[in-house]
Amino acid sequence: MKVNHNSTVPVRDFNDNWMLRVVEPVEKVTVEYEALDSCVKDLVEYQPIDIIDFEPDDKETRRKWITNLSLSNSVALFPFQFGNYLGNMNVLWKIPGSSERDTVKQVQIINKVKKNIMKFSTRKMQKEFIDRYKTCTGLQPVILRNMYLYLTEFEYQANSANAAEIDERFMKFLLESEDCDLIFDLRKNNCRPTEEKFKPFWKELSKFFDEKAAVHERRSNDKLYLPFAISVEDLRRQILDRLPEGSEALSVSWLKLNFSPANVYNTTAKNYTGQYNVRFAVQQRLVRVQHLDSHYCAVLFLMLKEFACQMREYSTFQCMDDKAIVPLGEPGHPVSTGVRAHHGGLIGGCMKVVALDFHVGGIIPSVCFMNDIPENPKDSFYNGHLYVTVKDKVFQAPSPLRHSTESVSLMRQCYSDDDVNLRTPVLIRYTDGGPDHRTTYKSVKICTLMEFIALDLDMIVCARTVPCGSYANPAERTMSLLNLALQNVALERTAMSPNCEMQIKSVNSLKSLRNLASKNQRIKEEYTQAVGVTLNILKERFKRLSWKGESVCVQEAASQEEMNALVEILKVLDENIQSDSNLSNLQSKAVDAFLESHSRSRQYIFQIKKCLADNCGYCVLNPPRLPDEVFQGLHFVPDPTKDENGQYKGFKDLYGTETNDMDRPSLKGKSGESSERDKKFKAVLVGSKYT
Ligand SMILES: [Zn+2]
Repeated sequence: MKVNHNSTVPVRDFNDNWMLRVVEPVEKVTVEYEALDSCVKDLVEYQPIDIIDFEPDDKETRRKWITNLSLSNSVALFPFQFGNYLGNMNVLWKIPGSSERDTVKQVQIINKVKKNIMKFSTRKMQKEFIDRYKTCTGLQPVILRNMYLYLTEFEYQANSANAAEIDERFMKFLLESEDCDLIFDLRKNNCRPTEEKFKPFWKELSKFFDEKAAVHERRSNDKLYLPFAISVEDLRRQILDRLPEGSEALSVSWLKLNFSPANVYNTTAKNYTGQYNVRFAVQQRLVRVQHLDSHYCAVLFLMLKEFACQMREYSTFQCMDDKAIVPLGEPGHPVSTGVRAHHGGLIGGCMKVVALDFHVGGIIPSVCFMNDIPENPKDSFYNGHLYVTVKDKVFQAPSPLRHSTESVSLMRQCYSDDDVNLRTPVLIRYTDGGPDHRTTYKSVKICTLMEFIALDLDMIVCARTVPCGSYANPAERTMSLLNLALQNVALERTAMSPNCEMQIKSVNSLKSLRNLASKNQRIKEEYTQAVGVTLNILKERFKRLSWKGESVCVQEAASQEEMNALVEILKVLDENIQSDSNLSNLQSKAVDAFLESHSRSRQYIFQIKKCLADNCGYCVLNPPRLPDEVFQGLHFVPDPTKDENGQYKGFKDLYGTETNDMDRPSLKGKSGESSERDKKFKAVLVGSKYT
């Protein structure tokens, strides 16, 4: 049967499998035979025709139609069974009255049909192909005919001279336009594309991939990883658990077949429906330290999401992350973005890498993903707008102040009605807790406070992921998109004046370059200009990307003046603060007191909220912008808290109640101390990771 089905030529031949039926004329031809009858009338006797164009489409009707065939002329009907999926083919020819019939001629015709049987059979296949895909794809028959031709390489038959001409013209157009959008992914039609009952399953699966897939920790490609489902069976079960009871699910093998086929020419690839561009593979190595607080932080993120959904009308939600440094080569020595010279060297792309030696320069793209808060916390948090800031590693190194300044200017530019205050009085931020976002640091707290004042917020919430858990951050997902822009790119900075180049020749570290620049302003200027050219190339490349249909916006890095101006804003609380104050060691009683009475700081979440006290100068001058009743009901996002059974309580039970972080696993037994892990990695965590 398998062999029969795969056969492109008739399975049976004439020796064992033919019959001839003579159909005598009738007086009155019924309506279903009218078209054929008028065609037969015009025929010369003994001229065979294939009646495929007259047959009804439905199998059962067709069988009856053939059996009851009755025309106004006598005809000989010659049905031929191919023996495979092509079914039967029917050829007939007109014959004279019974007295004048010629047996020899009949045999001659049968021989003639035999010669042409391939031609007839390909016509049959062509018709079947076109009928099958015409309605569900809505494509023009000319496109389908062309596809058929392309797929089969048969010499196909256009039904008329007119069609032949159209086909030829279309083929020419297709070849000349070189537009791949014209190519239609037929895999979508594999099997039963219109099967309704599996739709909820597919939908949930897609949501699951959105939520759970993670970027590889090295973020070197555009693949997502799914560390949550250990097998296809497990994946299927997890999806089923999320659906209402009794939902229809795909079988395991069917699901397996719908991962993107490794070899598209395989027989099993025929079952791939193109639903997901997800490949099933066992990952060899995914280093992911499971932190003590993983579950705790997952619950916290859930709380944050529920809070966001509850305050949806009044909130803006941003996810931030810095991408790994893009190396920048010295003039004449471009360094491929795929190169990781610091990690032992892995050369990617087709770029010929000339310089593998030391390079000081680098570019840091940082991401701010503004997500559209869904109505339900269980829905996707991956829709929204993506903003990228591209910075020079040497003179625009990331710091908490730089991040805050850039965030404020982005919010004022795109999310403000008066170019000063944020449109919504509540700002929620989620980060991976790198040093620039680590909310337990004083400098980060102070920068958050500046944003709170600058945007006149009623409340700001900054939460972060568990250490080593940055994959939970939605912004991380966008990294794979940004990698697209970095593919096969090798970067170098343009040359400075010979004098400056001479001076930095001996420079072999970031620190010495900065030192040199602090003594010689000219070097800083020329270097910034030289790197600027490359920055622009990257910006242009990022601009060409789009996230879920929306283009990526590229923002300018903050200048020193803008950053100083942001620090000045603290004068609202303490007049003695200078724009060049050391933020991580800021001595200001007023600021400390304000934070004391308006903020709540925990290991993974830091929040500032306005108060309603009469004696609070700041809040009297800047009263809450939320409607009174909403502000009354506004509370800090609660800490995950366990009930007596050891289960975490739900958001609704905790919101508005006084909670503490006593249930944080890493806190147990060493309250107030920094964790073991923090001690161990102290050297790494102190200061900026880019210095
Ligand atoms: Zn206050």
